[in-house]
Amino acid sequence: MGMKSDIKLIDAKGKRLDGRAIDEMRPLKIEAGVLEQADGSAYLEWGNNKVIAAVYGPRECLPRHKASPYGSTLMYRYNMAPFSVDDRKRPGRDRRSTEISKISEEALNKVVLTERFPNSMININVEVLQADAGTRCAALTAASVALADAGIPMKDMVASCAAGKAGDHIVLDLGKLEDNFGKADVPMAIVPHTGEIVLLQMDGDLSPKEFKTAMTLATKGCMMAYEEQKKALKAKYKGGGKK
Ligand code: ADP
Repeated sequence: MGMKSDIKLIDAKGKRLDGRAIDEMRPLKIEAGVLEQADGSAYLEWGNNKVIAAVYGPRECLPRHKASPYGSTLMYRYNMAPFSVDDRKRPGRDRRSTEISKISEEALNKVVLTERFPNSMININVEVLQADAGTRCAALTAASVALADAGIPMKDMVASCAAGKAGDHIVLDLGKLEDNFGKADVPMAIVPHTGEIVLLQMDGDLSPKEFKTAMTLATKGCMMAYEEQKKALKAKYKGGGKK
């Protein structure tokens, strides 16, 4: 981010490297209930991102000291597979995955009715199988579907999408080259029913006006993601999906 580059990210016709319009999202598809062992699960493809989310619980809280009499403890684990990126990624937790896990957990804490399950925990595991920019948004979007698939009561799902700046344009849902050579990335997550913002980060620099445009665009992206989330749940529960 913020790197100087000679790459032209937007052509004269306003098209992006992958042919998308400025406000166009990469193709997104989600399938609910893909794992036998998990209480709820989802598989998601968003452009070249591939993620799988698995939810377990509510179940006994271990370690015990993490248990709360006021509600269930959410434990969100974002993990990138070693084969998910060009160079092999060193397996296991690092600062980035710890940060993403923490903020995603906080976002979901705003919608899950944790107070219904005191002293328990709910584990949300997301594995990134293939990474191509925007994985934190992809992971959170999949995790919400997996939570719903597990039958965990929520106020609403959380829907997530990023906007950013490529060349001189504010664009929706940065691809990998746009992420690498663009000027800013603004991942966001909302509660679609209320419009409440439950995650907002920014990397790079934007003018206040550009930031507002990015927020508006990212909100639209979240709403598009939300439609796909609902579609995935309907397909499973109406169409008699797997499991
Ligand atoms: P996000 O995936 O949410 O956009 P970042 O902005 O941190 O998060 O990362 C952008 C992209 O950079 C990732 O989607 C991935 O393709 C790549 N990336 C992240 N971490 C690594 C890593 N350790 N090794 C190689 N590529 C990585």
